[in-house]
Amino acid sequence: MTIQPSSLSGLPRVLFLEAPSSWLTRAALSQGVEVGELLAHLGIGRERDCDLEFLGPKYRDIQRLCALPAGAFAVTRRIIKSVLDLGSTGDRLLLRTVEGSPIYRVCPSCLSQQQTPYHAIHCRFAAWCYCPLHECLLQASCWSCQAEIALPASLVARGRLEGRCAYLSQCFGCAKSHCRAPLVSLTAVSPFMSSFESDQLANGRATLAALYERRVLLPNGESSTLSELRTVERRGMLATQRRPLTAEVLRDRLGQVLGDQANTPAAPQSSTQIVRPADTPAL
Ligand SMILES: [Zn+2]
Ligand SMILES: [Zn+2]
Repeated sequence: MTIQPSSLSGLPRVLFLEAPSSWLTRAALSQGVEVGELLAHLGIGRERDCDLEFLGPKYRDIQRLCALPAGAFAVTRRIIKSVLDLGSTGDRLLLRTVEGSPIYRVCPSCLSQQQTPYHAIHCRFAAWCYCPLHECLLQASCWSCQAEIALPASLVARGRLEGRCAYLSQCFGCAKSHCRAPLVSLTAVSPFMSSFESDQLANGRATLAALYERRVLLPNGESSTLSELRTVERRGMLATQRRPLTAEVLRDRLGQVLGDQANTPAAPQSSTQIVRPADTPAL
């Protein structure tokens, strides 16, 4: 099927804080086309970050073509504008594959509660590592096949999954539901995290608030300009791709510590703990 050059109809509603690549995946399915065909129709190249392309200068044309309401993607656009204003620092905040496709993490509980499964923009940020609603760490990959959650994807009935994958709650590698991932609660892993790592988790939430508000709230109650995030990142106070605090990492650590304790009853090795520099305040 080929998309007609007129504006599109029957597109899905944009959900709360939904990321463009999540919506594009659902939109392509609603039109019965491969996502690449929809991207081409909207003038979005696959060689660039599709979320940034969608929300950039082409957005007004895309909005018209897709008949999107005025407030659609408003919060997402505001957050991504701050990311772009931060330049290379902002670019490092976003998760992406080697090829440049957006990557998302998931909270299994959030996904299982959604009537229509989707991915929210904050789950694309490297620093956003835990769900404050469910007090659990986010999954960075499929619990069964370890595939990353890269978007947008084609969900039409073709390809090696042969139509078994119809929802964004499913893994695009094996079609199993991300909702079945074992939860890693913050309470369970907190004793095995350094105070530095706890600060990093808290800073993930503060980072998203700063990007939205375009100002950084400091520990002394004062606020600073958005560019303060560059300093925070430089000091290593954000969980980054290089030091992820994901469900997988902390589940492994928990298993390792419990295994060690079973063999030789002893406290966790102090050498695994990161020391927080005295001059690096939490956001
Ligand atoms: Zn959640
Ligand atoms: Zn999988």
